[in-house]
Amino acid sequence: MARKEHCSFCGQETRNLFRGEDDSLICYDCIEQGHKMIAEIQSAQAKASKTSSLTLDNLPRPQQIKDFLDQYVIGQDQAKRYLSVAVYNHYKRLLQNEFNQNTTAGNNHAPVDLDGVDIEKSNIILVGPTGTGKTLLARTIAKFLAVPFTIVDATVLTEAGYVGEDVESLLTRLLQEADYDLPLAEKGIVFIDEIDKIARKSDNPSITRDVSGEGVQQGLLKLLEGSVVNVPPQGGRKHPEQEFIHVNTQNILFICGGAFDGIERKIAQRLNTQVIGFNAAQKSRQVDKSNMLQYIAPQDLKSFGLIPEIIGRLPILTYLEPLDRDALRNILTEPKNAIIKQYQKLLLMDQVELSFEKEALDFIVDKAIEYKLGARGLRGLTETIMMDFMFDVPDKVKAKKPRQLVITRAIAEKKLSQSDRLRFTV
Ligand code: ADP
Repeated sequence: MARKEHCSFCGQETRNLFRGEDDSLICYDCIEQGHKMIAEIQSAQAKASKTSSLTLDNLPRPQQIKDFLDQYVIGQDQAKRYLSVAVYNHYKRLLQNEFNQNTTAGNNHAPVDLDGVDIEKSNIILVGPTGTGKTLLARTIAKFLAVPFTIVDATVLTEAGYVGEDVESLLTRLLQEADYDLPLAEKGIVFIDEIDKIARKSDNPSITRDVSGEGVQQGLLKLLEGSVVNVPPQGGRKHPEQEFIHVNTQNILFICGGAFDGIERKIAQRLNTQVIGFNAAQKSRQVDKSNMLQYIAPQDLKSFGLIPEIIGRLPILTYLEPLDRDALRNILTEPKNAIIKQYQKLLLMDQVELSFEKEALDFIVDKAIEYKLGARGLRGLTETIMMDFMFDVPDKVKAKKPRQLVITRAIAEKKLSQSDRLRFTV
């Protein structure tokens, strides 16, 4: 066995060190850390060069962005269109200096005088039931983008001075995504999930201290409207002795998402009073009660407990549709990353061809609806059906057993009834 020696970099005493020509030694840990560092630097450089190579001529157009989203997300057409335009405009804002320079260089054919016009950012808010694809849309946009992107959860945030994280820590994540390349992070996109959870709990703004509600909204406001913010490089709480990074949020696009449970009632109330109070002609307009979210308006967010200033900073408001049976059925098999395709790939790695009969897929969808699990339940149900097979298949393959596996409805029913019923009794 090799004898123990000291690593020339970290000093730890260990075996199996690599020796350099000058007799210096390096241990596995240091090699691994160095490798990680190089990978991070390379990925930051790649992102930076992708961003800097964007020009007004090669910008991805909204239709191209939507086509990409279509490959991964089923339905949600309106949200996709809104997001595509928002991202396109975000890029244009980043390039407006280039545009200004070109137009002042004698190419100004603008019919109106646009001198001094500054395109402001339009942050977005997505409202829709859980499990309809809000986070998936955000993640998919991230795949497409040439700017750093991060997803953060609003529920961990509290007003400064209370247990939880300061609002500024949202930006720590973005900085980490950009490998602390500040100019790059300042062009990024932040997805704030569960924004509805920081709604004001009471209609009276000053009745009690609302540590995780209005206070957090006030903190967020500063970030959303664009200002220079002191960000703790490691996240968490701000400490006076810590050195901050000064991040300008003027060009950072914020996309917020939330289920806003119960907001349908506020929408209905508003529609009712509108019909009675202002516009009797609207009485004749059919209201589709099964999908009230389509009528959502900024004032409903206010009734729900978002402060008007925040709503003003989230001017693009769009909604996600509840997923019907057909949509759930498509989610199982159609997207590029569809659940069934993932299991097919897993089993193909054991040289087994997996297929599902149509009736088996319908059964999974029915169960997801029956247990009110929506799209989130599809994976759990499929996993339960597949579990025994995934356990047994590797041995069967060794024994040269059949190379095909067809999941019928009968198999799916049996596997689910055998499984721990409590898991699916909602
Ligand atoms: P939420 O709206 O709560 O953010 P998610 O985006 O996290 O929901 O959806 C949960 C899971 O359900 C996703 O990972 C995905 O597998 C599936 N899913 C939900 N909606 C869709 C959709 N419209 N198209 C494809 N898959 C979806």
